[in-house]
Amino acid sequence: MNLLQLRNVGIVAHIDAGKTTVTERILYYTGVEHRMGEVHTGNTVMDWMEEERERGITISAASTRCPWEDCVIQIIDTPGHVDFTAEVGRSLRVLDGAVVVVCAVSGVQAQTETVLRQAAENQVPWLAFINKMDRRGADFLAACRSLKKRVGVNPVPVQLPYGEGADFKGLVDLITMKLLTWDESSKGATISYGEIPAEMKEQVDAARLFLCEAVAEHNEDLLESFLDHDDLDADSINRGLRDATIAGALVPVACGSALRYCGIQPLLDGIVAWLPSPLDRPPVAGHNPGDESCAISIAPDPQAPFSGLVFKLAHDPHGDLCYLRVYSGILHEGDTVINARTGKQIRVQQVLQMHADDRQQVKQAGPGEIVVLMGLKETGTGDTLHAPELDVAFEPIEFPEPVIRQTIEPVNISDKDKLERALAVLAREDPTLKIQVDHETGQSVISGMGELHLEVACHRLAREFRIPARVGRPLVAYRETAASACELSGSIERPLGDGRQSVTVCLRLAPAASQRPQVEMASSFIDALTPGLVHALGQDLESLVQVGGEYGYPLAELQIELIGLEYSSEAEPSAEMVLGAAARAIDLALTSNTQLLEPLMTLKVEVPEEYAAGVVGDLNSRRATIENIEVIQGTRVVDAKVPLEGLFSYSTQLRSMTKGHGSFSLEPYGYLAVPPQQVEAILNGGQ
Ligand code: GDP
Repeated sequence: MNLLQLRNVGIVAHIDAGKTTVTERILYYTGVEHRMGEVHTGNTVMDWMEEERERGITISAASTRCPWEDCVIQIIDTPGHVDFTAEVGRSLRVLDGAVVVVCAVSGVQAQTETVLRQAAENQVPWLAFINKMDRRGADFLAACRSLKKRVGVNPVPVQLPYGEGADFKGLVDLITMKLLTWDESSKGATISYGEIPAEMKEQVDAARLFLCEAVAEHNEDLLESFLDHDDLDADSINRGLRDATIAGALVPVACGSALRYCGIQPLLDGIVAWLPSPLDRPPVAGHNPGDESCAISIAPDPQAPFSGLVFKLAHDPHGDLCYLRVYSGILHEGDTVINARTGKQIRVQQVLQMHADDRQQVKQAGPGEIVVLMGLKETGTGDTLHAPELDVAFEPIEFPEPVIRQTIEPVNISDKDKLERALAVLAREDPTLKIQVDHETGQSVISGMGELHLEVACHRLAREFRIPARVGRPLVAYRETAASACELSGSIERPLGDGRQSVTVCLRLAPAASQRPQVEMASSFIDALTPGLVHALGQDLESLVQVGGEYGYPLAELQIELIGLEYSSEAEPSAEMVLGAAARAIDLALTSNTQLLEPLMTLKVEVPEEYAAGVVGDLNSRRATIENIEVIQGTRVVDAKVPLEGLFSYSTQLRSMTKGHGSFSLEPYGYLAVPPQQVEAILNGGQ
């Protein structure tokens, strides 16, 4: 297909802003779905979960193709809840632009801010859709201001609402200078174009001038024309707006009411007009798989050798579905490609495109396209696939470490094996979900990013795998590190021939900033080994960090450097013995020198003024460090860092403290040393 006619977009929103409703409308007007889905008012979190899952299935959880005009808009799913920000992060890696749905009453909310920060890191351009213009208290300009104030972008209205709240009747398009109204009886399929109402003339003229000025300011070619005429023609505005949006200089702001079927078709026009095609995106950064310091950048060139990134795996009875974004070249059915992580060759049996829940076999896919490859072995999320004549690995997708864990067991004991297999499937699909077995009790332990995350996983077990399961109390996923730098050696002995062989490994442990422990071999260590053993150890060192610390929690924020090796016999020891000795040294080092770490969360709470004092007082009792409190449009916004331990059931408590008027967003920040007086309580609490 012509890449200029392709748009890969995500729809991003704070929960309840209307993402589901907007998406349903898009699927309907583009003819993907023939029935328009409706969300009932007054959703609870449970309803939301249920519905998010249902919808996840209809739009096949990763992407769906919507034809619009002569373009194809691929909508890439980005979940709305804080527990799934890792999911959003991976979607942002593969989409080219985003539509940010903002509630006309609440303006930008905490979760949107978080996602938009991720979008900025990935240089993803976006446009805003101010939804719910029909709601009492809707205020289009205040919502625009919240974009500027809270996200720090330059919003430029491209439409103005005709009336607000109960008076909302349609919108004025500032580019075509027409009034657009929708007919509810056709579910918004019929649009009437009329003249701008006289009472809006002044406001519309001012907004048009502002739009033209903003566009001209970012485009020298258009500036002259604007200065001559104090206006620009529609083509020039669209062209200038597109360049400025893609450069991240401006954010076009549209509006409407998804519920009342208003504003969706112009939004689709806007996606096509102002958001980038894959060809407008900067080259993608990667490196040589064998040498990280050798940077390679890949441009979306169909003539170049093939490269692509697997950004999602989904379980299917016929084999895993690997969602792939092609970055360069053309991938054909039957091609042999290489997985940059494993170095192994893979034959691509089938290339599929997802249309809602239908799969369609296609012969090939080019840069920017999102396709599904079925049944690839040993392929995981974040893997780069490339043609044999190219050597590239894209930056891996970083996933945060889980912060919460729960024991899980089947309701029917006979389901034990089935449960383990199903959990393994869920963990393969979702890199932020980890499964372990508690060695003392033999129980499975499931860890993830939050209570809702684990709740959804259990829900899936019951619904998709038909394995009802019981979970224990949610517990904090603590970690351990070395309290201070230290050097220690560990030895291990084994029979060898008639005698015995002993191996001693000397290592240095030091606290470090990165979440995952880093293991390195010093040259003094490497010199004592043959290259073959160094290579074998290099591959196995990962297993070293699986060693739990003094309290049995996984290690984190730790640098482990192997600095010396001695062995008693002529024969070189096996990699297994060297690792065994190193594990013993770590064990010894941590016995007297352990520091327990707890997950620290970044919390943003928004509450009406009258509840602020109570909410802040409550946060203090949860060991929070309040970093900032400000008033934005009459709402108190509190930024804090809080240990996760104090945040279980926070949503319920915030709801009752604020009579349902508070909202919050939560993100893992890192780990923090547990204060000594707390350690005992944690250990005695059976954590
Ligand atoms: P999501 O959580 O962002 O996916 O939001 P939903 O689409 O589920 O919408 C949340 C609630 O807002 C539902 O009750 C919708 O019916 C309602 N809603 C969505 N769009 C509009 C709108 O344009 N106007 C009004 N008044 N309500 C809306």
